Formats: sequence, structure tokens, C-alpha cells
Amino acid sequence: MPRTGQHEHSTPIYPTSGFIFDSAEDAQRIFADEQAGNIYTRFNNPSVDEFVEKICLLEGADEGIATASGMAAVFLSFISFLRSGDHVLASRSLFGSTHAILTSILPRWGISHTYVDAAASPGEWEENIMPNTRLIYLETPSNPGLDVIDISMLSALAEENNCLLVVDNCFATPYLQRPIELGADIVCHSATKFIDGQGRTLGGAIVGSSDLMEEVKMMSRNTGPSMSPFNAWILSKSLETLGVRMEQHCKSALEIAIRMQKTAGIASVRYPFLDSHPQAALAKAQMLHGGAVVTFEVEGGKTRCFKFINALRMLSVSSNLGDTRTIVTHPATTTHSKLADEDRALMGISDSMIRLSVGLEDLEDIYSDILQALEASK
Ligand SMILES: *Cc1c(COP(=O)(O)O)cnc(C)c1O
Repeated sequence: MPRTGQHEHSTPIYPTSGFIFDSAEDAQRIFADEQAGNIYTRFNNPSVDEFVEKICLLEGADEGIATASGMAAVFLSFISFLRSGDHVLASRSLFGSTHAILTSILPRWGISHTYVDAAASPGEWEENIMPNTRLIYLETPSNPGLDVIDISMLSALAEENNCLLVVDNCFATPYLQRPIELGADIVCHSATKFIDGQGRTLGGAIVGSSDLMEEVKMMSRNTGPSMSPFNAWILSKSLETLGVRMEQHCKSALEIAIRMQKTAGIASVRYPFLDSHPQAALAKAQMLHGGAVVTFEVEGGKTRCFKFINALRMLSVSSNLGDTRTIVTHPATTTHSKLADEDRALMGISDSMIRLSVGLEDLEDIYSDILQALEASK
């Protein structure tokens, strides 16, 4: 964004709902798209545009929009492209509210879906493509199962079948993974997580090619899930530290994952860059590092999980993730509690599973709190 006459170093915030026109003729030309200009913050705003431009550069996308939350971005990436009678082929390993959109909301408008296991073979994905499949949707790594899905393989399948490939890149961020380079058509984000990275605000983004983004922009401008200028300013600043934060998050997460494998009381550990992860080779090919989230199963089921959580002293018990502070979540009873038991089982979310979003604290402090809480939960 160009500096104002004040020569500020940090960009200003533009907390304005509307903009003024120099003349009636200018207003007419700006509305007719014959002249560039700001109209109204539901359409665009300089603070929001700055954030969007940065996300587009990071993701290698032509254009994008920012939304008030990640779910607004996910919802827009469906409704901008789907019509009654269309079908969505989706990975089963999805964020809880995304699952709710597919199973409870889109069917109201006659939009159906089929789930495929994240670890399915290319053949299994292909078998489930129907003549009316319009969109393939996935998260990788998935929340909270950390399944890794082959974006290039699905982009080839989407292209052969004339579908769009939409990737929720929330867990990886463009610092670790760039789905558009791997053939994805649309990337959506919950900026609430690692993009903010400090647990302060909600936000979302959608990016893609200019022609596809036309549809998304039309939908967003008219339905109004816009990001506020203040939140955009916060998130835009956060992007300046995304790389260093992700480096540190991932370094600590890998080390915690390695140590947890040898920690007493832990039944299993899952992390995309651990050799024990079934898709470790794919994760290493597709991502720069393994991400900031580690999941593990505690011996002793839900009872011990709850004791473990209640015994933590430093780590935060929260349902959020992607914060400077390490967050512990019990997905089965919180973020994924609304799912049917069999869906949770298919997604690999057991009652013993703990999701750890590794923060930026000292690694030894994080690990020793885990150890003392495990000891106390015996
Ligand atoms: C949190 C999350 C969302 C939803 O984002 P909000 O900002 O909470 O609306 C979507 N997808 C994934 C993978 C998430 O982790």
C-alpha cells in the first residue's frame, strides 16, 4: 500500500464503511468498472486489499478475497461454484463445521456429497466421481487426524473430470505448502490459525485464478461475509512473521513428536514428518516441514485424557490452534463432538486422542508440562 503524506512505517488502518467520489461522473465510472476506485468496505477496503495481496503472493494466486472467518471462506468456496443437483467429492477428514456444511446445509439446496478416506488410492477417488461431480474438496494435513492427501494426484483427477479442486490450506499455510503450484484451483484459509498466529482475531481468505475469483467476489460482495479493516490490518502484520513463526513451530513440533514416541503412557503419536506416519513420504514431498500440530493417544482412554488435561499447568486448554502458546484439545468431546460416533471413528478420532498445537514457548517448558501432567494423570 502506498504511504500517506505522514511517512508512516507501519501501514495505516482504514476503518471506514464507505468512500467518497470526486464527482458524480467518477462515481458512475467506478461503479461501471471503467475506473479504479474504492466504493464500499463490503466490496473492498485498502487495509483488506493489502492483506489479500500478500496472501495471493504467498499462495502464487492471481486474486483473492478476505472473509470474516475461516468458515465464511469455506462456505463461499462451495456456494460460489455449486448449483442444485451438483455433487461434491470430499475427503472424509474435515474440520467439524465443514463436515456440517456438507452433511446438513448443502443438502437443503439439493447438493450432495460422497466422502472418500484420506488415504484412499487414486482408483478409489476416481470410482466416486459422478457425472454431476463439480468440486473436489480436501484439507491436508487434516484437522485433527493429520492425514496427508496427494494434491497433484487429485488435481489431475479434477482436470480429467472437469471439476474444481479446492484445498483448505489452514494447517500448512503457504509457507509450508502451495497447493496452486500443485494444481489446485482454489485455496481457502482460516486466517484465525497460523496466519494470525497469536490467537487474536478471526479471519479467512480464498484465492485462485482471476476467472474463478470473479464468481467468489460476486458472491461475497452480495452476501457480505467481508473481513473488517481492523482485522485485516492485524493479519497483514502477522504475515510479516509467518515464516519465522512456522520455522519455530515446526522445529518444536517435530521434536515433541519424536520425544512423545518414547514417552511412557503414550499409546501412539501422529505427525506428518514422522517415519511412522503412513503418508510421511508424500508429506515430505508436498510440504516444507511437518506443521505445528501433533496428535497422540494416551493410554487409559478418555478418563486419563481428562486427568491429563486437568493437570496441565502451562499449556492452554482451548479448542483453538495456531497460537504462540501451546494448546491442548480433546477433539472427540469438543471440536468434533457433534459428529456421529462412526464418523469420528472413520476419521481416526478416538476418545484417547489429544491434539497438541505446538506454540513458540521454550521446548523444554512445553515438554516438561506434558510429562508432569502425564505423571499426575496415572
Ligand atoms: C479452524 C478451521 C476452519 C474454520 O475457521 P474459523 O476461522 O474458525 O471460522 C476451517 N478449516 C480448518 C482446517 C480449521 O482448522
